[in-house]
Amino acid sequence: MSKTSCWRAIQKKSFTNWKSLLSYLKLPLEEAEKKVLISSHFVLNLPYRLAKKIKKGDWKDPLLLQFLPLKQELQDHPLFVSDPVLDSSFTKTSKLLHKYTGRALLLCTSACAMHCRYCFRQNFAYEKETLDFNKELEELAQDVSLTEIILSGGDPLSLSNAKLKHLLEGLNQIPHIQKIRFHTRFPIGIPERIDAELISLLSCLDKQVIFVIHSNHPKELDNAIFTALKRIQKLGIPLLCQTVLLHQINDDLKVLADLFTMLSNHGILPYYLHQLDRVKGTQHFEASIEKGRELIKQLSARLPGYCIPKYVQEIPNQPNKTVVDLHSFQSSQT
Ligand code: SF4
Repeated sequence: MSKTSCWRAIQKKSFTNWKSLLSYLKLPLEEAEKKVLISSHFVLNLPYRLAKKIKKGDWKDPLLLQFLPLKQELQDHPLFVSDPVLDSSFTKTSKLLHKYTGRALLLCTSACAMHCRYCFRQNFAYEKETLDFNKELEELAQDVSLTEIILSGGDPLSLSNAKLKHLLEGLNQIPHIQKIRFHTRFPIGIPERIDAELISLLSCLDKQVIFVIHSNHPKELDNAIFTALKRIQKLGIPLLCQTVLLHQINDDLKVLADLFTMLSNHGILPYYLHQLDRVKGTQHFEASIEKGRELIKQLSARLPGYCIPKYVQEIPNQPNKTVVDLHSFQSSQT
């Protein structure tokens, strides 16, 4: 079996059926009828390796809560909307977003290794199938103001190595592009994705590559993931991590301290702690700004500075992410 078919085969074993998942987790189906959202456009998708880390019989497990569709998603709230960060108003082509000066974002694919219920792009009108990136590469080549391209999605590591090769080689040839940044959660669910072919692709690039992984809870991490990520670090690629602050999942001093310590022990620096983007049906995930502020203050008193991420929120139409003011007594939430 080739390495590529190896991670694809692992991906096929992910849980996509809630009854199978609940039976695996020994959660009673009778209770499920009250809790589980049986049908959603954003379907259940949970890699087996993450499911194995969920405590059996525990509805409140912090990993289960991130991935199981719940009826709470049906609650309406006027401030929680389909496109809270206004991505759709910054599209240049169906896959290219240009929001911030000097940087553009490529929505490489709609596919992810897992479906996080709080995802702010869950309603984005993705292309049905990504055939190539020719149009986007042309646009990027023409805009000399751009120095960094962010590969996002979905998850850029959902692309095959062949499609990534075409994209990366194209980006590598654009003289004004200096950096290529990956935003990925894939290795948290399927670390096998960091295969020899991907490492070889990355090692051929002249541009500086940066990886930003996404992890919310120390239970998501393990040695196999760190070993896979080490192969990227050995290429001289900096690794950063972004975390979304999630009510009853990681809005807790010990959980965040353990997460940031564990990451930094493996050379992965906590980059952003994000306030939740207010996407429709996710209000049960929101922790208050006051809570986030207090947590950052307590973390700062406990951990070295390089372990403390910037606490940020995305306010539409601002020229950059907004760093939450830690000293304000007013809530900046509306
Ligand atoms: S992996 Fe990222 S893009 Fe995919 S569902 Fe989760 S948060 Fe959204």
